[in-house]
Amino acid sequence: MTYDRLVCANCAAPVSEGRCPVCRAHRQRQESFFTGVNPMALVALLAVLIAAVALLAHQTV
Ligand SMILES: [Zn+2]
Repeated sequence: MTYDRLVCANCAAPVSEGRCPVCRAHRQRQESFFTGVNPMALVALLAVLIAAVALLAHQTV
């Protein structure tokens, strides 16, 4: 991962060391990207799909 080399703007240490809250928040975001985003994206996709179907049905009728 590229964030291993990323230097924090807040504490000027590598983000991977997690020295300050900014580093830790960044790491948390990186780690939860795959586990946290997928269910959310799925729900969003479903909502868009339902809206598209409802819109299509409304237009044809
Ligand atoms: Zn930092």
